[in-house]
Amino acid sequence: SEVATMMNVPTTDIISACMSLGIMVTMNQRLDAETLSIVADEFGYEVNFVTADIEESIEEIVDAPEDLEERAPIVTVMGHVDHGKTSLLDYIREENVIAGESGGITQHIGAYGVQLENGQKIAFLDTPGHEAFTAMRARGAQVTDLAIIVIAADDDVMPQTKEAISHAQAAGVPIVFAINKVDRPEANPEKIKEKLASMNLLVEDWGGKIQSHDISAKTGLGVKELLEKVLLEAEILELKANPNRLASGTVVEAFLDKGRGYVSTILVQTGTLKIGDYVLAGKNSGKIKAMQDERGNSVKEAGPSTPVSILGLDGAPQAGDKFSVLEDEREAKDIASKRAQLHREQSVRTQRHITLDEIGRRIALGDFKELNIILKGDVDGSVEALTDSFQKLSTEEIHVNIIHKAVGAITESDVLLASASDAIIIGFNVRPAGNARQVADKEEIDIRTYSIIYDAINDLKDAMEGMLSPVM
Ligand code: GDP
Repeated sequence: SEVATMMNVPTTDIISACMSLGIMVTMNQRLDAETLSIVADEFGYEVNFVTADIEESIEEIVDAPEDLEERAPIVTVMGHVDHGKTSLLDYIREENVIAGESGGITQHIGAYGVQLENGQKIAFLDTPGHEAFTAMRARGAQVTDLAIIVIAADDDVMPQTKEAISHAQAAGVPIVFAINKVDRPEANPEKIKEKLASMNLLVEDWGGKIQSHDISAKTGLGVKELLEKVLLEAEILELKANPNRLASGTVVEAFLDKGRGYVSTILVQTGTLKIGDYVLAGKNSGKIKAMQDERGNSVKEAGPSTPVSILGLDGAPQAGDKFSVLEDEREAKDIASKRAQLHREQSVRTQRHITLDEIGRRIALGDFKELNIILKGDVDGSVEALTDSFQKLSTEEIHVNIIHKAVGAITESDVLLASASDAIIIGFNVRPAGNARQVADKEEIDIRTYSIIYDAINDLKDAMEGMLSPVM
């Protein structure tokens, strides 16, 4: 109704314009930016967005190249269960004690920094696994610069290894493989590399470009060299940030501590965070009272790529929420409460992710160039057959992109990947397992399941041509 008033048209006209776009709305509902633009256009108006949210106003601060300084890479460790992610993170945490520091890392705050002998630093996110990585991404936070994917050399490239690879690739994050457990007599690192090669992932030893190193997370063999390779890979990325500005970054973890109040671990991505700063983090705000590093030491400031736990927020923001420092406390409070209000209103919100029904319209509008699909099937044969057929549906206007394919049920992790990459999920002779359905409903992810290959291909073809008849 606000839009109707602004354009001086009856509210019912707006509602029917939305309906013709396939969006059912009520008078008091908020429309997303894209819908707003389309609807306004129908009435001959052009929408001009003024800073609707703080992120936008902050992103406008473009750093001058001369203000940028090198920053440490931020790394996530992923891989199949039991392949040694935790062991690797633990080993690095315990062994890499910064020169001059007395104790090792005692606190588990969700992220930690290490310094190698040559003085170079790396920040690790201490929640291993692609689920955590993609959950953050689904919330709009791209924190990780590089992924270490751990594969046990006494095992194989497993389903979750493949998932981790797809998740890293979908995020555009370079991979360094850690072929682990080489201390075990059954270990066969060459077999793993061969398997990777057969998946078109050529590691260096095999003449490819992907870094990989044989390690033992148990004895520490090769870990130092692995980290050196991580740094080499990071160099190519030319990671930079301006330390001399108000800080912003991402929340890694937050909880309520009985004695201390709300404790949040944040990762500074740009600028320098200082005690006394007014912080806005998601729907929370507050003045920083104290900061600690992963060793429990009090710190006064934290620069780019540094994880710190902070005290002073008025609540626990969610992992993946962005934080930023604002000039004054009032502003931080105002935005936080506005966000909380928006959040409440938007719990009944319009479609956020792509659905099969919507594809035709989006293609016709010309703003949709890539259709991301996650494909799960009961057997390899059908997955491969469908991949082929789907890819052949690509046209000049739209590219069909299979961002992840695997044998097995549709999992929560698939849904998170779909949410982070705006993909639809197609299941062939498989169904959502565990919480996948609930999460999909919450994230508004379109899951389609089929038992006839022909039907799956036809539906997708029809959808791309905008001819799909709606499901009842
Ligand atoms: P995660 O599930 O990937 O986090 O795997 P964990 O780090 O928990 O490791 C699973 C099991 O493998 C544990 O019992 C570890 O002790 C063992 N493990 C991990 N890395 C190595 C290694 O390099 N060599 C040997 N022999 N065992 C390892």
